[in-house]
Amino acid sequence: MEAPGCINEHAQSDLLERIKELSCLYGIARLAAETNLSIDAVLDGVVEVLPAAWLYPDGACARIVLDDRSHSTSNYTRRVRHRQRAPIIIDGRQRGYIEVAYPQEKPERDEGPFLKEERALLDTVAREVAAIIMRREAEQDKVKLEEQLRHADRLATIGQLAAGVAHELNEPLGHILGFAQLVQKCPGLPIQAKADVDRILNTSLYAREIVKKLLIFSRQISPQKTRVNLNHLVRNGLNLLEFRCASDGIVIRCSLSPDLPEIDADPSQVTQVFVNLIVNAIQAMPSGGTLTICTLKERGKVSLTIEDNGVGMDEEVLQKIFTPFFTTKDVGLGTGLGLPVAHGIITAHGGSIKVESKVGKGTTCRIQLPTKRNRLL
Ligand code: ADP
Ligand code: MG
Repeated sequence: MEAPGCINEHAQSDLLERIKELSCLYGIARLAAETNLSIDAVLDGVVEVLPAAWLYPDGACARIVLDDRSHSTSNYTRRVRHRQRAPIIIDGRQRGYIEVAYPQEKPERDEGPFLKEERALLDTVAREVAAIIMRREAEQDKVKLEEQLRHADRLATIGQLAAGVAHELNEPLGHILGFAQLVQKCPGLPIQAKADVDRILNTSLYAREIVKKLLIFSRQISPQKTRVNLNHLVRNGLNLLEFRCASDGIVIRCSLSPDLPEIDADPSQVTQVFVNLIVNAIQAMPSGGTLTICTLKERGKVSLTIEDNGVGMDEEVLQKIFTPFFTTKDVGLGTGLGLPVAHGIITAHGGSIKVESKVGKGTTCRIQLPTKRNRLL
């Protein structure tokens, strides 16, 4: 039988341990309540509150690993004498773990130098951390979805506006072109006047191209699909641009998959996408560079990747590239319609377009198009 003083001491140390546990859980709850903290900041905070809840707080260190990212107390070292771990399980999948460790030797307790209660606490903390991450990620997804919806909404409005403007402009432009062509045919036209009419013609043709792009962007021109091989379209597009690349000091590296399945696509629209992307790549390499073009057969899809090692884009530009009329180029060099048009065309073909870029390193555009036969054809 234990002496009353001894029981009292036990009860007191138990109580102390419970208080430490509760302080730890309270600290984590407070971190979870700070909605403006990022997940990383919350995890940094959680590792800091953990050691104080363990039996030897001064000798304890803690670490959380989530998706290969690690958060640890400053005294954490990989070479520890004893460690306790609990998995972080989110949506039934282990995404990482939480660990408390003693770098130095400690006296034996229930589980090595750890208490049973500490195991239970670590499991509770791991579950709590998983719940926090799940909530934060759900919030992030919601914000992202709302932003995508706003973007789609903006695009639809701009699309309607663009279609309206394009239709209105088409007719007067047709007149300008038609009359300029008539003037050009007038006998005895002075040389200067002829040169000026040529300029009117060229500028009107350029304007008509923009109108056409607007109509494609706003899906007023639907794709005229046939069975085509993407490699042929790439070769045709390259024929148009090879000379320009060579004169700009750009080396083309082309790797076209020999067993590419055919796709249902509008050849001129897909060529337009290709040309838009290549022109962007050329403009991004003003002092030359390498343009890598690659086609690949994938499951149920074909992909086309266009990579340049030009100036690249920062995150801010990258966010806006599919917004109509967004351009960083001078007047005459860019209309800000190349990528929105490409996006419109590829979406109308049931495909996807993704752009990755790093400032000073270059840009990669990847298009995927389905190979499934369109039964309406
Ligand atoms: P535009 O070329 O007429 O400006 P785009 O829609 O084709 O319009 O492109 C929008 C913007 O995206 C460009 O102004 C440029 O800032 C950026 N961009 C597009 N492609 C590239 C690229 N390959 N490298 C660097 N920046 C690019
Ligand atoms: Mg462009």
